[in-house]
Amino acid sequence: MRIRILGAAGEVTGSCYLLETAQAKVLIDFGMFQGARSDDGRNRDLGIIVPEELDAVIVTHAHQDHTGRLPLLRGLRAQLHATPATVELSRIMLEDSARIQESEADRENRWREREGKPQVEPLYRREDVDAISTRWNPLKLGVEREVAPGVRLRFQEAGHILGSASVVLDVTEQGGMPKRIVFSGDIGQNGMPFIRDPDLCAPDADLVLCESTYGDRDHRPSSETFEELAEILRQAAWARHKVLVPAFAVGRAQLMIHAVMELAREGRSPQMPVYLDSPLAAKATKLYTSFCDLLDDELQTSCRVGDLARDLAIAKPVLSGAESRELNQLWEPMVVIAGSGMCNGGRIVHHLRHNLWRHGVQVVLPGFMAHGTLGRALVEVSRGQRSHVRVMGQDVLVRAKINTIGGLSAHAGQSGLLNWIGGGCGGGSKPMLVLTHGEIEPRHELALAVKARFGVDAHEPMYGDTIEL
Ligand SMILES: [Zn+2]
Repeated sequence: MRIRILGAAGEVTGSCYLLETAQAKVLIDFGMFQGARSDDGRNRDLGIIVPEELDAVIVTHAHQDHTGRLPLLRGLRAQLHATPATVELSRIMLEDSARIQESEADRENRWREREGKPQVEPLYRREDVDAISTRWNPLKLGVEREVAPGVRLRFQEAGHILGSASVVLDVTEQGGMPKRIVFSGDIGQNGMPFIRDPDLCAPDADLVLCESTYGDRDHRPSSETFEELAEILRQAAWARHKVLVPAFAVGRAQLMIHAVMELAREGRSPQMPVYLDSPLAAKATKLYTSFCDLLDDELQTSCRVGDLARDLAIAKPVLSGAESRELNQLWEPMVVIAGSGMCNGGRIVHHLRHNLWRHGVQVVLPGFMAHGTLGRALVEVSRGQRSHVRVMGQDVLVRAKINTIGGLSAHAGQSGLLNWIGGGCGGGSKPMLVLTHGEIEPRHELALAVKARFGVDAHEPMYGDTIEL
């Protein structure tokens, strides 16, 4: 059997693996490449994937860089296996994604028509999302299912966002011994609010594929991060300016609302209005409170009695684009949480354009920013590597304070990843270890740390590489 690495190799987006045995073809994740202009071409190219030939598709979690290309599997006959929460979140994410693809193509086609250029097609349309929507087959954490001939699937908690899972596959080829393959998916941090801690890598694996987003560093402890956030809110209130938070609609947005509310409740930061400027995040927030059993012990009770839903409702949803633009006319301290998470589109972009050049404005970057995104450029400003960023075709001098707060990251740092890998590499077992879903340098740092800790040489594949087992 073999595994083809078809995305997130030496980068963090476009997660995709193809498992091929003599009897079965199984796709694990089919995420979108994000960040670079050339990604549109990469997203459209299915390469060696023939949807009709797939026996199963497995989805680790609902983030766009793991699900965003699923609607391109036109002609798919197989089922899409994911945890129940991932199924529900993916549905709303993909509908939203199709709407964005269509409206971006419409906008581009308007200027193309004026310039006499040929029209473009959106990456996919709502019909494509509807076409796969009947193929979802939810599977709860810890339950086993044969998803293709000789391929048994079990999900385990990944602690990254609601419904996120690592994938454990027990694969038997005719006449052969069963092999265990573990795909980490995205691994969360221990001790974060909301979500349960990740389970360790399953033992007795023959092959482990692990993410390496933050393979080169540890985050600051979350207690320090909460204090940092409180200080940011106090400064914004004092300067009577906004706090802008680009956040993924699923996971970061809910955690930020919760954090801002808790800090105000504890008297550590001033009360200020919170605007959730993302209809998708507003829908996702509702789903968070309908899967109480997936939340950590602390929040389960408040979820069941409805307190959590009430708490999260302090964030006012901003539904239309016009309402979003109206926020630019309000001159008072407030927190605006808007997508996209890496500032490469969405409503956060216009908020940044209106505010980055102002002294006193605070920008909070709570998540990972891929190469080529506006979010990454802002990270570079915070490190003193540049002073201007390009927003909507214009160079803007950044006078706002840019705060990167890794302690609220949905991804484990290096110690957390080593801890997770230890579940599979501890004791006498030495699986083949493959590091993916990380840029070249962080990934290599993790490989060095893995060698030092477990004595295992980790593979660092690139796009298109094949792992034989
Ligand atoms: Zn993710």
